[in-house]
Amino acid sequence: MSAKILEGKYFAQKFREDAAARAAAFEERHGRRPGLAVIIVGENPASQVYVRNKHKACEACGIKSIGIELPETATKEELLAQIDALNADEAVDGILVQLPLPRQIARDEAEILNRIDPAKDVDGFHPVNVGRLATGQPGLVSCTPAGCLKMLELAGIELDGARAVILGRSNIVGKPMAQLLLAKHATVTICHSHTKNLSELTREADILVAAIGRPKFVTADMVKPGATVVDVGINRLAPDEEHPKGKLVGDVDFEGVQEVAGAITPVPGGVGLLTVAMLMENVVTAAELRED
Ligand code: NDP
Repeated sequence: MSAKILEGKYFAQKFREDAAARAAAFEERHGRRPGLAVIIVGENPASQVYVRNKHKACEACGIKSIGIELPETATKEELLAQIDALNADEAVDGILVQLPLPRQIARDEAEILNRIDPAKDVDGFHPVNVGRLATGQPGLVSCTPAGCLKMLELAGIELDGARAVILGRSNIVGKPMAQLLLAKHATVTICHSHTKNLSELTREADILVAAIGRPKFVTADMVKPGATVVDVGINRLAPDEEHPKGKLVGDVDFEGVQEVAGAITPVPGGVGLLTVAMLMENVVTAAELRED
């Protein structure tokens, strides 16, 4: 048996189409486009690429994109003042602070992110939004797990009553993924670095989500035949002749697991493509929740 490949490109396109349609309808109702402000502090080259990608995605979806660049030497107070100004700006529906922050303010990351108005927290990291997710209230959910859930639903994967096992308990991926699947009536187990007999648990999973940052950790013998395997991991292997920059692999041994699984996301080309597309949907959701 060979698994159905869940291609990120296909699902990301669907998300962008949904975001664009909802953004256009929002503009009809309110006479303005939904707006996303992205703050970048310093000149981290990887961050600059991510911010450019977000800007391009906004353009493609009819979302107004506002870029704010602060110098590498910016103080916490300067960054907080910028967030306060965006919180008060009626044309801004979503605010993102691109991470990582420069060294002098990195230790204040939680305080800085918590300053974002929860209604504009399109990353879904604010404790208010985390609490809303946990209690089943409308709010903004972290983009990567929200994207994974929407992909599973669009792919027609049965969630109600399914056994879901999630590897990883981070605030950004593992925990919100568990909450989302629980809300869809899956029976959810969360595993982490202290979990005993991990393979016994993974072999019970109808839906297995791997988000641990360990290259090719999940092997075929850990997967129930026919299971749906979602690989969130992005790991760069050491450079070799064929891949001078180092090959990108997931947390799942794709070659082996695809022979056992019913459906699987590849790396690259899987979940990694969903996050920015889902961010577009979150910006429109934030605009709708604020204005409708
Ligand atoms: P974190 O490092 O924050 O969390 C990793 C989690 O995995 C922790 O809960 C840790 O357990 C657990 N873990 C680590 N090793 C093992 C192990 N051997 N067995 C069981 N559990 C283990 O990572 P993130 O959640 O931020 O990211 C996970 C992966 O997903 C990374 O590869 C990252 O690059 C990728 N990612 C991809 C995104 C995308 O596609 N857009 C977005 C975000 C992340 P413990 O809590 O006990 O330490």
